[in-house]
Amino acid sequence: MSKITAEELVESITNKMKTERGKDLKDASDKDLYYVITSIVNDELKPHWLETEKNYKKRNVRQVYYLSMEFLVGRLAESNLLNFGLLNTTNEALERLGFDPEKVYAEEHDAGLGNGGLGRLAACFLDSLASLRYPGHGCGIRYRYGLFEQRIIHGNQIELPDYWLKEEYPWETRKADEAIKIHFGGQVHMFKKNDGSLEFKYENTDQVMAVPYDIPIVGFENQVVNSLRLWSAELATSDEDVAHTTQYYHHLDHNHSIEQISGFLYPDDSSHEGKELRLKQQYFLVSASIQNIIKKYKETNRKSLNHLPDKVVIQINDTHPSLAIPELMRILMDEEHYGWEDAWKITTKVIAYTNHTTLSEALEKWPTAMIQSLLPRLHMIIDEINERFCKEIWLEYPELRNKIHELAIIADNQVHMARLAIVGSFSVNGVARIHTEILKKKEMKDFYHLFPNKFNNKTNGITHRRWLLQVNPKLSDVITDVIGPQWISRPNQLISLLRYSKDRPFLEKIDKVKHENKQALAKFILDRTGIKVDDKSIFDVQIKRLHEYKRQLLNIFHVIYLYNELKDNPNQDITPRTFIFGAKAAPSYHLAKEVIKLINKVASIVNHDPDIKDKLKVVFLENYNVSLAEKIIPAADISEQISTASKEASGTGNMKMMMNGAITLGTLDGANIEIRDLVGDNNIFIFGLTADEVLEYYHNGGYVARDIYNTDDRVRRILDQLNEGWFGTHDIEFKDIFYHILYHNDPYFVLKDFDPYIVSHELVEQSYRDKFTWLNMSVANIAHSGKFSSDRTIQEYASSIWNLNKV
Ligand SMILES: *Cc1c(COP(=O)(O)O)cnc(C)c1O
Repeated sequence: MSKITAEELVESITNKMKTERGKDLKDASDKDLYYVITSIVNDELKPHWLETEKNYKKRNVRQVYYLSMEFLVGRLAESNLLNFGLLNTTNEALERLGFDPEKVYAEEHDAGLGNGGLGRLAACFLDSLASLRYPGHGCGIRYRYGLFEQRIIHGNQIELPDYWLKEEYPWETRKADEAIKIHFGGQVHMFKKNDGSLEFKYENTDQVMAVPYDIPIVGFENQVVNSLRLWSAELATSDEDVAHTTQYYHHLDHNHSIEQISGFLYPDDSSHEGKELRLKQQYFLVSASIQNIIKKYKETNRKSLNHLPDKVVIQINDTHPSLAIPELMRILMDEEHYGWEDAWKITTKVIAYTNHTTLSEALEKWPTAMIQSLLPRLHMIIDEINERFCKEIWLEYPELRNKIHELAIIADNQVHMARLAIVGSFSVNGVARIHTEILKKKEMKDFYHLFPNKFNNKTNGITHRRWLLQVNPKLSDVITDVIGPQWISRPNQLISLLRYSKDRPFLEKIDKVKHENKQALAKFILDRTGIKVDDKSIFDVQIKRLHEYKRQLLNIFHVIYLYNELKDNPNQDITPRTFIFGAKAAPSYHLAKEVIKLINKVASIVNHDPDIKDKLKVVFLENYNVSLAEKIIPAADISEQISTASKEASGTGNMKMMMNGAITLGTLDGANIEIRDLVGDNNIFIFGLTADEVLEYYHNGGYVARDIYNTDDRVRRILDQLNEGWFGTHDIEFKDIFYHILYHNDPYFVLKDFDPYIVSHELVEQSYRDKFTWLNMSVANIAHSGKFSSDRTIQEYASSIWNLNKV
């Protein structure tokens, strides 16, 4: 869209280098170039940003706000350049000036404001919203520290703080004049007014300012620039009580504790984190965002909020922002003077909820006492929502009377956030077909009985602009060469590739690109770790958060098995394989950290054993994040998606790798099932227990892990190696893993799925030997991956939940 030529760009870079960096080009570093480029992009996009906002206001369109505690944005320079149509020109200009564009973009610190899939989904959704010209914005928290930086030292995970704001972050704009006041604690007083209605007044609250920092979200070549608004907690300096504080140190203390609210992201993924500070963060996000939404609504609409549901929809990403429900009720009743019934009607037409998990440890609960002291008015409202809901069940659903305890929002002195979110929203969606079915039939069966029309499925997606066009330009060019560029705006057209799946010259090109990407990753691995990997070997990749249900343990058991086989028979003819891992474990998750240690231990043994003759390599790349994912994914041959069936809600790593031509080796879980349905059984490797079988075992028992230990020599040998120390040295043992499997009866069915997994791997190896069959499979995966563009997902949200129109 922008008509800047490389020459013009060279000129503006040269000028800006002087005016903004005070340097001549010849003295400029990569970092100087990075800041100059971002400044040029900002100059370009700011007018469009303003225009977009004015346009939404002028047309008074319905808008969606995506509330999320996490946005795993990664770097923005390249994607903003790409979406602005400036990427190629900028690369050319940088090269002319003697700079390596990749190094320049690498100067940007990842915005790691998320743990994993849930946060990355939020970022992909924003990209699709803007690219499809939907009026939709993100609301989140500007954590000063993102997800910890991982180092591996002697095989152990060490966590370092991720101070991503150490240097200026060029994409954010502070909007101090739009700050919003948030109240915590204090007391609530109730008055009866003359008309008999109740009025609520709050006293002695702690006040915090939420200051917004806006990040532009650039649509793909369409002049749309939406916003991601991140709130930062600051002292309310205009406060009288603070201004009158004479105790200087007390004041500093107070300031510090307030800034903690946006201090750091809790490094937990799909497990419960019960810290009061986390609850404060959730309310902070929710209150700031909703007050802001209402303020904006009032700028373009009549003062009354009767028509709020016509203009606003709030999607909450998991239950973390579910206080949005009582908070909106509070504002409607206490500030806008609505009665309960009317406030409830409005609230339940505005809020929609996305569920991301059925793992019981991840279902959020908060002690009522904590909510009561931190948010006394919200506690009263939640209490009332609960009372009315329970009464409704009692009176209208006698068949559920004996289940009230399992349905109540408040039970055993805990507030169950998922129940609150279901009751207070108009839509509840799961994130893959099987996940939604499990919600409806098992996990939330009774709620489905109560509200059948609320439940719906929206299978996740990923932005193909970042995850194909940007990270794999070579593959993108090969695709465009044969089917033209239409797939870029309509990813479903990737399906046309199927016509070329037997075309040898085309397949040769696909092969060449994959090999070049593998060479690039091999070089990266060598630079980072000193490990030399064979770029002709099968690159077998498992990159995701470390969790028992994701079963990195099963993967490394297979590697140990292969190693043992090769030790027994060093001349065995096998296809060389490189196993690549990337994973962070929550700092308090002991067993997950043991698995990281095990992977690194196996790597150090396998990679240095001369008997192995380089046929196996194991690489653990530290600090898995978006930028690392972008390096690994284009080079993957095998995509390991081996969660215990029923546990992975959707997965999105599976989609990213499929889109880059990797073949999935996985269980029938999450979106793997939908991948299988599209590509067919011949283009995917499926193994292991089904979700029904797993749930059946959980329900009725019948699985005994020790039986497998006793009967399968391969399994026993591996477990004994863990128990007894490697090679009898006894210096490093993995007894905890051994005990966990045998004494807790292998809750994730690692041993049960071991044999089918080995068999599947053997099939992988055989298939890889036939190059054209393999390339055929690879192309089938790329061709069908269009369905997993987040454009499709957002289209579905827009038409069936949000009722949103393009602008
Ligand atoms: C896509 C992505 C994830 C999610 O991966 P899953 O395999 O779906 O768990 C996690 N972290 C990062 C950095 C990602 O890019």
